[in-house]
Amino acid sequence: MEILVCVKRVPDTAENEFELNSEGNDLDRDDLVYSVNEWDNYAVEEAIQIVDKVGGNVTVVTVGDDESEEVLRREMAMGANNGVLLSDDAFEGSDCRSIAAILKAEVESGAYDLIMTGAQADDGAAEVGGMLAAMLDMPYASLVNEIEIRDGGKIKAGREIEGGNQEMNEIELPCVLSIQTGINEPRYVGIRGIRKVAKVEIPTKSASDLGIEENSVGEKGSKVKRLDYFVPDLGEGAEMLEGSTDEIIEKLIEKLKSKGGLG
Ligand SMILES: Cc1cc2nc3c(=O)[nH]c(=O)nc-3n(C[C@H](O)[C@H](O)[C@H](O)COP(=O)(O)OP(=O)(O)OC[C@H]3O[C@@H](n4cnc5c(N)ncnc54)[C@H](O)[C@@H]3O)c2cc1C
Repeated sequence: MEILVCVKRVPDTAENEFELNSEGNDLDRDDLVYSVNEWDNYAVEEAIQIVDKVGGNVTVVTVGDDESEEVLRREMAMGANNGVLLSDDAFEGSDCRSIAAILKAEVESGAYDLIMTGAQADDGAAEVGGMLAAMLDMPYASLVNEIEIRDGGKIKAGREIEGGNQEMNEIELPCVLSIQTGINEPRYVGIRGIRKVAKVEIPTKSASDLGIEENSVGEKGSKVKRLDYFVPDLGEGAEMLEGSTDEIIEKLIEKLKSKGGLG
């Protein structure tokens, strides 16, 4: 089975203190520590486990700049067989539709049976997977937390739905699945694994390599414009607990007890 997993390089929430930039329209991205989007890590682990069972290859792909190569190498150290970087000045300023259009071109340049994305990434849009499936005219399942490969070019996919319920679907391949965290336990990536793939050649594809009209993606092709980006004012009744982690926990327990939330 040929599996393509879409991965995104995102600021690491555990490693950074976030502030807005001087224009107030984005995070201040100088000196941030980046890593692979958490959901994508689960998708790559699932793809590796499927290939271990039924054979095939896992390819990881990202739309980004030269630095995005590091997340491809990390996922290759984990066990993905190939990496592809989709990078071009024309991709800058892409909204989710543009990102999906760029990924679509990559899917169509290969022969993939299964395409996976994370359920969501740092911008929290949870749009790319669904848009990609629609553009490819492929079946799609979101919030997938269980996959079973069946005979006859089909899979069984479990979806986490509201109220703690679970839904099972049989889906024909090729299809697109957006993977929810918790579907597996992503394996640890050691320094040895990273070293092993440090020098592996990663092909980079530009807009023209992918047959993408430059004006159809990036800032020019994007149909969503970000108008503002800000930290909302504290609402009435909101209270920030100050102190060390232990002090905050202590204060929180007291608050919950005083409101009858804890016995
Ligand atoms: C007007 C505008 C301009 C923007 N300009 C830029 C910009 O210049 N640079 C920039 O980085 N972002 C830019 N963004 C944000 C960018 O469009 C989103 O980060 C991107 O579309 C994914 O959104 P998300 O993180 O909410 O993805 P979601 O839809 O929540 O992500 C779901 C899944 O889609 C896949 N995916 C998402 N992004 C990528 C990717 N880049 N490569 C591979 N797979 C991916 C992953 O599997 C991910 O788990 C811009 C957004 C807008 C609205």
